[in-house]
Amino acid sequence: MTVQEPRTRAYLDHAATCPMPEPVLHDYVEALRAIGNPSSTHGHGQIAREALERSRETIARALGGDPAETILTSGGTESINTALKGIFWSRRKAGIGPVLLIAEGQHSATNEAAEWLESEQGAEVRWLPTDAEGVLQPAVLAAALAEEGAERVALVSIMWANNEVGSVWPVAELCAVAAACGVPVHVDAVAALGQVPVDFAASGAAALSVSAHKIGGPVGIGALMLGRRTEAMSILHGGSQQRSRSGTQNAAAAVAFARALALVTSGRATPDPARVAHLRRLRDRIVAGVRAAVPDAVLRGSDPAGDEDREQPRRIPANAHFTFPGCQGDSLVFLLDAAGISASVGSACGAGVVRTSHVLRSMGIPEEEAAGALRLTVGAGTTDAEVDALLAALPDAVARARAAGLS
Ligand code: PLP
Repeated sequence: MTVQEPRTRAYLDHAATCPMPEPVLHDYVEALRAIGNPSSTHGHGQIAREALERSRETIARALGGDPAETILTSGGTESINTALKGIFWSRRKAGIGPVLLIAEGQHSATNEAAEWLESEQGAEVRWLPTDAEGVLQPAVLAAALAEEGAERVALVSIMWANNEVGSVWPVAELCAVAAACGVPVHVDAVAALGQVPVDFAASGAAALSVSAHKIGGPVGIGALMLGRRTEAMSILHGGSQQRSRSGTQNAAAAVAFARALALVTSGRATPDPARVAHLRRLRDRIVAGVRAAVPDAVLRGSDPAGDEDREQPRRIPANAHFTFPGCQGDSLVFLLDAAGISASVGSACGAGVVRTSHVLRSMGIPEEEAAGALRLTVGAGTTDAEVDALLAALPDAVARARAAGLS
């Protein structure tokens, strides 16, 4: 069955998942036609192995690492779990720990892996507060390391960019602070990839997680960059196909991931400047248009002004995130959806209870303000017509959401 997307809909939720560009889809389908397990020694297997290893090289180069450091996984969640659990277990075995320093406001893959390590594996999690823009400052990390004592800290886990509010973190500075104490850092770079330079070697991180479907690759593949000197016990046991990860390798998805990365990067670890300029122009149109249409809407996360002149921008170019006073974000998403616009609230709903975003709470935003969150994220295929459609529909959606109130 083919599900046809209505032509008139605007897709402004690229942070949730990106559509696959035609060249990626083409390469993916062609690679899926190939027969052979890359671990098989016969001719078919060797062809699959060649495609896999060529893709691994492209992925490694685009991430500023080398192929021996590039573990292909099923996505960001698996990469993060492997890094947190694997490094924690390896460090505990070496007599180090049991503290995990976890910055607040991260993705649930990080938060829940850390909470599981605490409840089931004897870890002691210290949550490090972020600032009003949702960024962990190096001084906060330095103070936490000094307070705990380096030998008690198994791992630090941070983000390269926040997936809800788009703020970019000072990764190299944070890694330098931890390196001075000999503590490894894991970086969740899922939201940063393709948006800002992500260079594993230059960052000083011990481990770094990315996911293909956030950049136009398929769902179901990601990578964990794991430094050569970093030990991470496996969470998956089996055929030992890769260091720290068992399981038949997905050569076709690797081919598609490599193609998607090649499309969003230009050279080692650098996002394609033309794509970034396109994202930024549309994002800036959204920011200016929302402010004009709803003057009391508040842009959350870091201010992108001047980002075009910075090597590491303060905000990823695809992200606009607002809170709308007096509105419930879920009402806005519902009303915009009815008007043909797909956007996201960024808050979690559990058991029918609407909870505000943990990211906004970690930024110190009061519940009532955080309730009106709306995240709008653009992609390479986003058009001005989609932005026009959003800006045309928004005033009515906000008026109706306000009338419905916060209850
Ligand atoms: N980390 C961040 C920052 C994310 O935004 C996401 C996905 O939303 C993940 C991790 C999880 O990645 P995946 O969907 O590939 O499991």
